[in-house]
Amino acid sequence: MSEKLTIVIVGAGIAGLSAAVSCALAGHSVVVLEGAKELAEVGAGFQITPNATKILQRWGLGEEMKKTWAVPSSCTVHRYADGKALWHEAKFAVNIQRKYQAPFVDMHRVDMQKILYDKAIELGVSVKLDHRMKEVRMNLDKGLPELELMDGTVISGDLVVGADGLWSRCRESMLGVKDQPLPTGDLAYRIVLTLDQIQDEELKQLVSSPALHFWIGPKAHVVGYSMKSGTMYNIVLLVPDDLPPEVSRRPGSVDEMKGLFEGWDPILTRFLGCVTTVDKWKLMHRAELESWTNKEKNFILIGDSCHPMLPYLAQGANSSIEDGCVLGRVLSYAKTREQLPQAVELFEKLRKSRGEKVARETFFQRHDFHMEDGPAQEARDKIFASQLGKEEAEVKFPSRWNCPEVQPWLYGYDAYQEVDEAVKQHLLSS
Ligand SMILES: Cc1cc2nc3c(=O)[nH]c(=O)nc-3n(C[C@H](O)[C@H](O)[C@H](O)COP(=O)(O)OP(=O)(O)OC[C@H]3O[C@@H](n4cnc5c(N)ncnc54)[C@H](O)[C@@H]3O)c2cc1C
Repeated sequence: MSEKLTIVIVGAGIAGLSAAVSCALAGHSVVVLEGAKELAEVGAGFQITPNATKILQRWGLGEEMKKTWAVPSSCTVHRYADGKALWHEAKFAVNIQRKYQAPFVDMHRVDMQKILYDKAIELGVSVKLDHRMKEVRMNLDKGLPELELMDGTVISGDLVVGADGLWSRCRESMLGVKDQPLPTGDLAYRIVLTLDQIQDEELKQLVSSPALHFWIGPKAHVVGYSMKSGTMYNIVLLVPDDLPPEVSRRPGSVDEMKGLFEGWDPILTRFLGCVTTVDKWKLMHRAELESWTNKEKNFILIGDSCHPMLPYLAQGANSSIEDGCVLGRVLSYAKTREQLPQAVELFEKLRKSRGEKVARETFFQRHDFHMEDGPAQEARDKIFASQLGKEEAEVKFPSRWNCPEVQPWLYGYDAYQEVDEAVKQHLLSS
C-alpha cells in the first residue's frame, strides 16, 4: 500500500480485532473504539474451525493459541434419551487436519480475544476502551465518514468498520432507521465447569481427554467440549426460548434447567449436576441486508452486526475472523485512496453471500438436530446408522459438522486464496 488509510473500527470483539490485525498487516493505520471499560467478555468456550484457524495461524497466533486450546480428538452425536452414539467419528482431529491442513480447536473466548488484542497492539493498532459510539454519518464537506461518540467527540477516517455485534448501532446508522434483532425461537444456557467443580472421576476423565459431544433430542440439543488444555468443560444447552420478548439475557434457575434435561443421557445429567449457577441467553438473528456497505463505499459492517446466526455450527466468530481477514487482504492490494470504493465493493462481493449462506445453514442444522421422535427422526437416525462404523460419513449427513457436502465448503474456505484469486481475475484494477 503506498497510501496509508485511516481505518476506524467500532467494537473490539472477535470481528473488530480480526479486522484490526488484518488491516494493520496490510499497512494501514487502525483505531478500534470499544464501548466497554475492559475487554472481559463474560466468557464461555468457542470452537474455532479450520476456516479460521488457518487464518489465525497465518497471522502467527498458533503458538499462543496452543498454550490453552483443546483439540477434540473425536466427534460423537448421541441420542438424547440413552446416550447411544448415533454417529461417532473416532479420528475427527486427524481427519480435519488432513482435509483442511488446519486444526479444529476449542478455546476460552477471553483467551482468544486477548491473543487478538495483543497482536493488534503489537502491530501498532490503537484500541480505545470506554469509547462508546453514538452514530456514524457522512461529513459531506470532507467526503469522509465520521463517528460521534456518546461524549460528543467526533472522529473521522477514510473507512469506518462497524463491528459492534448483534445490537449494532452502526447498522442502524447505515440503515437510518431503528432496527432490532429478531428472536430465533431458541435460547442457550451457557455453562463452564472447572475440574475442581467436578467430583465424579469418570466426568473428570472426559474433561481431560478432549472430544466433541452432541446430544440431540426433541426441540433441543446440547454441545459439550473441553477447553483450557483439558482443565475446563464448556456445555451449551439449546432449548426453546421462554424469556419475555424484552429480555435478551438473565440468570437462569439451575433446577429449571435440570428439569428440561430429565431423562437425557446420564453422563449429561451428571455434568448438569455439577452446575451451581447458569445464565439464559436469547438467541437472536437478523434479516439479511441489501448491502453491508454505504453508497459512498467508506462505511461497512462485519461480524454479528450484519450476519448473526444460530450458534449451531459454531460459525459466528469464525466467519467474523474470515470477514476481518478478507477486508485487510483486499485493502493490501489497494494502492491509492481512489481504489477504496472498489476494494470495499470487492470485500462485499466476496463476503456477503458466504456470510449469509452460513447463517442460513445454521437453521438447517437446527431442523436436523431438534426433531421430535417420530417418522422424520427415525429416517434421520437411519442415515446416521448407515454410516456408523465408517471412518467418515460418506453421504449427505444430518450433522453438518461431519457432512461430506457441507463440511468442505464450510471448513475448506481459504480467505487469503479467495482474495488473491479475485485480484488475479482483475476484480480490483491496479
Ligand atoms: C451460546 C453461543 C455459543 C457460540 N459459540 C460459538 C462458537 O463456538 N464459535 C463461533 O465461531 N461462534 C460462536 N458463537 C457466536 C459468536 O459469539 C459471535 O458470532 C461473535 O462473537 C460475534 O463477534 P462480533 O465481534 O461481531 O460481535 P461481539 O462479540 O458482540 O463484539 C461486539 C463488540 O462491540 C462493542 N460495542 C457494541 N456497541 C458498541 C458501541 N456503540 N460503541 C463501541 N463499541 C460497541 C461490544 O462491547 C463488543 O465488544 C456463539 C454464540 C452464542 C450465543
